[in-house]
Amino acid sequence: MKKLFLITTTALFFGMSFVSCSKTENEPKFNYNVDKFADLQILRYQVPGFEELSLNQKLYIYYLTEAAQEGRDILFDQNGKYNLAIRRTLEAVYQNYNGDKESADYKEFVVYLKRIWFSNGIHHHYAADKFVPGFSQEFFVEQVKAVDPTLLPVKEGETVDNLIAELTPVIFDKEVMPKRINLAAGYDLVQTSAGNYYDGVTQKEAEDFYAKMRKPNDNQPISYGLNSRLVKRDGKIYEEVYKVGGRYSKALERIVYWLELAKGVAENDEQRNVIDLLIEFNKTGDLKTFDEYAVAWVQELTGNVDFICGFTEVYGDPLGMKASWEASINFKNVEASSRTETISANAQWFEDNSPIDSRFKKETVKGVTAKVITVAMLGGDCYPSTPIGINLPNADWIRRDYGSKSVTIENITYAYDQAALGNGFKEEFVIDEPTRELMNKYGFASDNLHTDLHECLGHGSGKLLPGVDSDALKAYASTLEETRADLFAMYYMADDKIIELGLLPNEDAYKSNYYSYIMNGLMTQLTRIELGNDIEESHMRNRQLIAKWCLENGAEDNVISIEKIDGKSYVKINDYDKLRALFGKLLAEVQRIKSEGDYEAGKALVEKYAVKVDIELHKEVLARYKKLNLAPYKGFVNPKYSLVEDENGMVTDVTVTYNEEYDEQMLRYSKDYSALDTYND
Ligand code: ZN
Repeated sequence: MKKLFLITTTALFFGMSFVSCSKTENEPKFNYNVDKFADLQILRYQVPGFEELSLNQKLYIYYLTEAAQEGRDILFDQNGKYNLAIRRTLEAVYQNYNGDKESADYKEFVVYLKRIWFSNGIHHHYAADKFVPGFSQEFFVEQVKAVDPTLLPVKEGETVDNLIAELTPVIFDKEVMPKRINLAAGYDLVQTSAGNYYDGVTQKEAEDFYAKMRKPNDNQPISYGLNSRLVKRDGKIYEEVYKVGGRYSKALERIVYWLELAKGVAENDEQRNVIDLLIEFNKTGDLKTFDEYAVAWVQELTGNVDFICGFTEVYGDPLGMKASWEASINFKNVEASSRTETISANAQWFEDNSPIDSRFKKETVKGVTAKVITVAMLGGDCYPSTPIGINLPNADWIRRDYGSKSVTIENITYAYDQAALGNGFKEEFVIDEPTRELMNKYGFASDNLHTDLHECLGHGSGKLLPGVDSDALKAYASTLEETRADLFAMYYMADDKIIELGLLPNEDAYKSNYYSYIMNGLMTQLTRIELGNDIEESHMRNRQLIAKWCLENGAEDNVISIEKIDGKSYVKINDYDKLRALFGKLLAEVQRIKSEGDYEAGKALVEKYAVKVDIELHKEVLARYKKLNLAPYKGFVNPKYSLVEDENGMVTDVTVTYNEEYDEQMLRYSKDYSALDTYND
């Protein structure tokens, strides 16, 4: 569980975002808003530039998007062993319902199904706890019984009553599978997590199983456990490997089929090699092949089209070993990429001029490749909730020896911005009109630059002193790591060098990002926390840490203040220059903590500034936010791609359309991309 948290860092940041963009006037009207329910808002994104690609590139993307959609059921099953049965049962009810659609039970039923689609299962996609249906158990039983049994996922030799008996407690009983991932100290994390990565084993058994596999002092360690479920049967512990002929075979066969077709139209030999290795990995499940694939993938930099399509991130496993299935099919945004190329080309300058102690600086910064991409399709764990930045591969030794690819997904951030226009958020929380105007003008540019600096330079900067254990900061490591990357980004955003390099238009632009960051860290991110709770998620902790530390340490100079206007609290930044100096000072300290492995200092910083919430302010923010009637979490429907054929059946074009509704898309995926069995045990 390390760097790749950055996937959510920025996603959260932008998910909460309220910036808007000056591009608006020139664009034809596009409806970004699709649906809204529970705490979720569904948006759609455009794929600018797709039409201008060559037919070969379009076809390449098309085949990859097909593979991306085939993995959806794998994730449902990974997220919980009853998820596919529940989804298929509820979909059958939804499509065959003849009762009163105005009844409270039915409306709640629809919300519940939409939430399951969103979370790829019965647990909240972010909080990971089971959400409770708003309809009655009687309604559920009655409606399932009303459906033609052949449309329901009834196990062989069983009846609809068996199905109902099995699913009812999983859906309705709060005590059954309450959390998808339990990370709370003092529990058997494996046995108390409802995710389907283990079956019948204890945490100790799982840890021992993998400890035995690892070789001491291995310079290129295999990511053991990444692509399997660990089970215990008749006293024997073994892995069910995800591969063709193994676990999830039916879906993986389809994925391999589409990858083969994609290979035929790839842009270059390196891409063909990447796909070959990925196909081989899907066929054999051999993790050495997976590493070969990752090494080939990270070095393929010449093509325009790129993709992730497989078992990738390990956040769903409480032990951080087993990867969920995800996909992102994308191509390079050439114009915007010149921005990140400029940043990367100047990486050494940024490292040399960083405000940290010179003992902690890297003599040579390497391996930072960065580009801005346009996503064409999201799948698995990237859908519908999606990152806006990706940094892969995960294996530390591959990052060390071959570097990593870092991307910013600009058509997604743009959609967030557009959808947020006029939703009232800024009017409610930003202190005055000039600040709002600043954010309207520079929000999109400065927030994107923040992400670029964070991803391309922030995480990669600095070094550990010799002999310092890279795990020294333990449970505080990821909060402090995100803190470091954010501070690096913000410290430099206000530098003259940024204007000199043409990364921001003028010396006011960075202020938009400073203001939104501090307002978010001190106030508005609290909309995601239930009253009375502490902040637990590491990116939220990082943001509050920075904001509160600067509030307190700048108090004497009145750098930041909280103003009361008509009984409402507002963040006011009184001195942007001094705020920048504070960012530099805190960056130096956080870098020292990391470089020296100073656990006690790291702990003190996090515990003092990042965890506790001011209850009165929290109450106020929640009340004000509630009035706006906004959804704190957002996700996306995908565009739809179609082949155009001439009278001889030759493909002449690939078209993209954007008119699908949320339920329409989910039901289509469930029908067309659902090769997996309901029960995979
Ligand atoms: Zn990060």
